[in-house]
Amino acid sequence: MSKAQADLSLHRALMVEWQLRRREIHDPRVLDAFLEVPRHEFVLPEHLAEAYEDHPLPIGEGQTISQPYMVAVMTEALGLAGNERVLEVGTGSGYQTAILARLARHVYTIERFASLSARAQERLERLGVRNATCLVGDGSQGYAAAAPFDAIVVTAAAPAVPQALLDQLADGGRLVIPVGDINSQELLLVEKRDAEMEQRTINYCRFVPLTGKYGWGGSHTL
Ligand code: SAM
Repeated sequence: MSKAQADLSLHRALMVEWQLRRREIHDPRVLDAFLEVPRHEFVLPEHLAEAYEDHPLPIGEGQTISQPYMVAVMTEALGLAGNERVLEVGTGSGYQTAILARLARHVYTIERFASLSARAQERLERLGVRNATCLVGDGSQGYAAAAPFDAIVVTAAAPAVPQALLDQLADGGRLVIPVGDINSQELLLVEKRDAEMEQRTINYCRFVPLTGKYGWGGSHTL
């Protein structure tokens, strides 16, 4: 291993310890996934030195790769055991896709920008991730063709929980989604049991807006 690679591995281990484990991320499978997925492969070359820092980074098209801690909170809340079919709305860099792919059976990930989706797909292929399908489209409407999903995660801020996503959630399934206004949101965990929805706030956050039919600019204006 080169010195540069050894440094990146050390930064990754420190990120997991200080930003995740010591901030109450406890699921060992989730922590292992963050140790294994090379986040530096998902950032733009000009941000390589910041790849393991405690904040989001620009990825192009005005979008971001989320703060590692927020990716971990959302991922842990899905409670994945390994056999789930997951929908991720907002592929972005593909980083969270790679994490989810280590924890579930298959990940469908949908992104509105074709350029970001293509770059994410390239990275995932290069890293040997074979259980993820990258799609381009309006993820606020979900992806009915592959529904129902055992878990759905939305990585952009929605004005309200899209009914389409609730409809596409399997019984016993979990949806994690930031809901609020453009400047601040509550991170909601919605669980579907016998067609009933149980909802609670698990954190507070600030994400880029979800666009599309059930996002900002659909029936809700920015
Ligand atoms: N999880 C990503 C990662 O690890 O890099 C970060 C995603 S970024 C915070 C949110 C993404 O949601 C952006 O790439 C944005 O283009 C995408 N997005 C916003 N509205 C969307 C929609 N209606 N359908 C699909 N993607 C959408």
